[in-house]
Amino acid sequence: MARGDGMLNHDLLDEDKGPKDECGVFGVWAPGEEVAKLAYYGLFALQHRGQESAGIAASDGTRINVYKDMGLVSQVFDETTLNTLTGHIAVGHCRYSSMGSKKWSNAQPTLGATPEGGAVAMAHNGALTNKKDLAAKVRDLLGDKPAGEIAQGNDTDTALATALMGAQEDVSLFDAAMNLLPQLKGAFSFVFMDEHTLYAARDPYGVRPLVLGRLERGWVVASEQPALATVGASFIREVKPGELISIDEDGIRSEMFAEPNPAGCIFEYVYLARPDASINGRNVYESRVEMGRQLARENKADADVVIPVPESGTPAAVGFAEESGIPFAHGFVKNSYVGRTFIKPSQTLRQLGIRLKLNVQESVVRGKKVAVVDDSIVRGNTQRAIIRMLREAGAAEVHVKISSPPVKWPCFYGIDFASRAELIANGATIEEITKSVGADSLAFISEDGMIEATEQPRAKLCTACFTGEYPIDLPDQGITASRGCEPGPDAEYEDLVADDPAATTP
Ligand code: SF4
Repeated sequence: MARGDGMLNHDLLDEDKGPKDECGVFGVWAPGEEVAKLAYYGLFALQHRGQESAGIAASDGTRINVYKDMGLVSQVFDETTLNTLTGHIAVGHCRYSSMGSKKWSNAQPTLGATPEGGAVAMAHNGALTNKKDLAAKVRDLLGDKPAGEIAQGNDTDTALATALMGAQEDVSLFDAAMNLLPQLKGAFSFVFMDEHTLYAARDPYGVRPLVLGRLERGWVVASEQPALATVGASFIREVKPGELISIDEDGIRSEMFAEPNPAGCIFEYVYLARPDASINGRNVYESRVEMGRQLARENKADADVVIPVPESGTPAAVGFAEESGIPFAHGFVKNSYVGRTFIKPSQTLRQLGIRLKLNVQESVVRGKKVAVVDDSIVRGNTQRAIIRMLREAGAAEVHVKISSPPVKWPCFYGIDFASRAELIANGATIEEITKSVGADSLAFISEDGMIEATEQPRAKLCTACFTGEYPIDLPDQGITASRGCEPGPDAEYEDLVADDPAATTP
């Protein structure tokens, strides 16, 4: 189930880029340990959350050094680079650009000044929905003459937060964070540091995951629990929604900067998080298997074999096979290592599309009625290509089973979907989608079934990309939260999409 190359099944087809998490964050405070190497391996475990750039900042108590570049963690760092990042505190980041464009100056951790004249290095997973307000505040404070990373061309919400943290006067970094965090809207899981202290903060909705772990000689914070295990840390607890944690030689300190109002991202359970992660006490793999079982209960299948679209469709296919009693088999073999090359395929190879990354196991599907299980449909191009391959390999019938409801709305909280116009489920009936992807039948799990599988109360989840009910205000778009309400008129949301940075980032 490991996805070591960081490439998920929605990356199988270049023109069908799937949902992208904005980032993975990692922080460690551990005197006597090689903290940069801990951060490096921690980021490896989080590579699936962002593959465009990676960076690590480390402090030896007097000075912070940062190294970051475009590329996968393994491409950015080598032994020599890591050896320059000495000290007892480190913050690491792997990025996908859903807020701000894909360029070197937007790579994180972002470096800035503290109110006390030191340095702060920040790593962020999420998206701030009041970026316009924050930019105006930075202009008010700094005038039209930008400073720090903003002056160097960093146009992310993280750079704005870093600048606002440092622009306060006569306060400690902890107090500056306590002042700033309640002013930030949207989704944020921050890990940041000055020369002496590691900090972690999570938005009051807890949209993106963030966990705290213990090393024998220190502490670790990370986007997902498996990153703790990778560096030998034991899981202590999640960072609470609305909580700011600081860790230094005096131990760990926790303060609430806002009342918790949980609205965790349900798409973390469906696709984004590693299957071995647990979010709010619920194991992601078990959720996905249960989504498969529920899908089978809701949609009876007349099939000879159940196959997954690897990798992230696998747990749901396991559950679907178990519940339906139809045998499970691996109908595809994935060439995981293709994702590790930066060599562009030739024109001839490019035309092979998905076949460069996936082969059909012909003996499994020839002459069979095949139920193929995937976690979600975004544009539908991947499913169309997969169905064509199965038919060419001799499948008698292809029935597509999707373990999440149709994705119909954009995400403003850190996930880059296609624009609403590109979403295949936007305005199309199931029959039309079935015809478009070339399947014999197509079935989705119900919204209730998906939610039940997470074992989380509906009121504590964000389901906006499926329902259009946004739990957090979208002040940049002039929209207030609509959780529990009917979505607004389409025209209103079409305007949203037009402004949606996620819809326009590559
Ligand atoms: S809109 Fe969808 S992807 Fe975005 S936070 Fe909500 S559930 Fe997650």
